[in-house]
Amino acid sequence: MKKNSLVNLIGLDSESLSLFLEENSIKSSFRIGQLHKWIHKFSADSFDVMTNISCQLRHKLKEISKIEAMPIESETLSKDGTIKWLFDAGNSNAIETVFIPEKNRRTLCISSQAGCAVNCAFCATGHQGFNRNLSANEIVGQLWSAQRSINLNLITGIEDLNNKNTIKSGNNLITNVVFMGMGEPLLNYKQVIKSIKLLLDVNAYGFSRRKITVSTSGIVPMIDKLARDCPVSLAVSLHAANDDLRNKLVPINKKYPLNELIESCKRYITRSPRDFITFEYCMLSGVNDTDKHIKELINLVSQIKCKINLIPFNSFESSDFRAPTIEKINSFANKLLNSGIMTTVRKTRGDDIHAACGQLAGNVKNVTKIAMHIPIKII
Ligand code: SAH
Ligand code: SF4
Repeated sequence: MKKNSLVNLIGLDSESLSLFLEENSIKSSFRIGQLHKWIHKFSADSFDVMTNISCQLRHKLKEISKIEAMPIESETLSKDGTIKWLFDAGNSNAIETVFIPEKNRRTLCISSQAGCAVNCAFCATGHQGFNRNLSANEIVGQLWSAQRSINLNLITGIEDLNNKNTIKSGNNLITNVVFMGMGEPLLNYKQVIKSIKLLLDVNAYGFSRRKITVSTSGIVPMIDKLARDCPVSLAVSLHAANDDLRNKLVPINKKYPLNELIESCKRYITRSPRDFITFEYCMLSGVNDTDKHIKELINLVSQIKCKINLIPFNSFESSDFRAPTIEKINSFANKLLNSGIMTTVRKTRGDDIHAACGQLAGNVKNVTKIAMHIPIKII
């Protein structure tokens, strides 16, 4: 059989894998766990290594299926230990994945789409436009490849991951997964849910719900659907606390305005593995960082148990925005803290390799007609 017509097992959750095995008259349900362990826990890319599966069955699997992630185009290591991979998504598209090692956690930031159609004014991904949704194979493949690649780096000596002592084996290298790479995960709902199911599966990656975060620009009906289907930690990209400004910064706000968004967040908390929602707030000098904005923000979020994550704007080519000074950001943070709102300032990571929030652009062949740049008047 041609390699392209083989079924790729890398993104198949238990349900889809069970269906695939049944369709091919491979019965026993314990095969699902066996295959998941080999592929995801031991990063196998071939059936030959699966020694607890009979030769005959391995041969059959090889004839009908494959284990394949997107090819890695490049891997770049930042001086702060951050690693960025560029994956070839075909047809001249490339998407990015970032590994961020910190003292107590090691986070993988994954992409869900090639580009993004939401077109937020301050985001490099949005500026590139949208090409297509990634499949569960491509989403889970980012984790699978990152895990293999980090293992290889450890073996070959590129090992300065800030916390060498705590790294024991490749399987628990990545402690958290965030859907904060390229794309709007809730606009690729089906494939994202399939991927999350594999991330949660004890035979595959075994993450707890708290350790997986979906970040969204605020697709209200899908926030409700996520709460029902598969609640994980939720981060909402707020960036403005009044509709006029948010309409300009995050255009999807025209469809799902702030009052609807906040109500959906309140509903989400009742199902969430965490008892708060994280609000991301990208700080843009002169745009959303004045005392008026602080007051509006405090008013808006006081209705809900939340944590605010202030992200200093990360610049990219062709962006008109600037980040406020660090003093200004700290003073903004202190005012929120003084009002009793849990607030953190996100440390910029991987800036030297363009791997910071909002800098991920990969390579996207835009297929939409969205206006590529909405000018915002800087007050
Ligand atoms: N589409 C989703 C997830 C990907 S973006 C979302 O918007 O939530 C991940 C985070 O980076 C979001 O909070 C986004 O608003 C923020 N971001 C985008 N561009 C940025 C930039 N240039 N500087 C800092 N943060 C940015
Ligand atoms: Fe898309 Fe998120 Fe970027 Fe907005 S911030 S354009 S939703 S990736």
